[in-house]
Amino acid sequence: MHTYPNRRQNSPPRSARQRPPDPLADVVDTATRSRMMSGIRGRDTKLEVFLRRALHRRGFRFRKNVTGLPGKPDIVLRRYNAIILANGCFWHGHHCHLFRLPATRPEFWQNKIEANMTRDARNIDQLRETGWRVLLVWECAWKGRTRITPEDLVDRTAGWITGSTEFAEIEGAA
Ligand code: ZN
Repeated sequence: MHTYPNRRQNSPPRSARQRPPDPLADVVDTATRSRMMSGIRGRDTKLEVFLRRALHRRGFRFRKNVTGLPGKPDIVLRRYNAIILANGCFWHGHHCHLFRLPATRPEFWQNKIEANMTRDARNIDQLRETGWRVLLVWECAWKGRTRITPEDLVDRTAGWITGSTEFAEIEGAA
């Protein structure tokens, strides 16, 4: 049994975080950077936290950020052979209204996002080849104008967990 570092414990105190060194300041604007940061894998994004809490409340038990599996998946429910990935739409290149290439250095970001997408696809393939079921939950189902209700999101997630569908995605309403 591994233990996983708790982000809160590892974060600098709030006072130290108020004016962090900002290597991206001259590269992307604040809104873009905020969107990027919210999608970075390995952090407790809001969507991940919401899903974990909601699933826990419904009695599901899981491990999070499991390092022994491809891509260090966000939520792993062994009992159901199920893995849930909460994907930020910018970082993971979702075709939706939350994805827009930054005006500055678009080629750089396009290459970066495409590399992420390639890695995501490879990870999902490896997980499925080794018998895991995989659910992708996209950020646009959780926030923005295409969001569905939180109840709906949890219902659909829970329904997939206890069902038999091998692979599914939950995304924002069209
Ligand atoms: Zn999306």
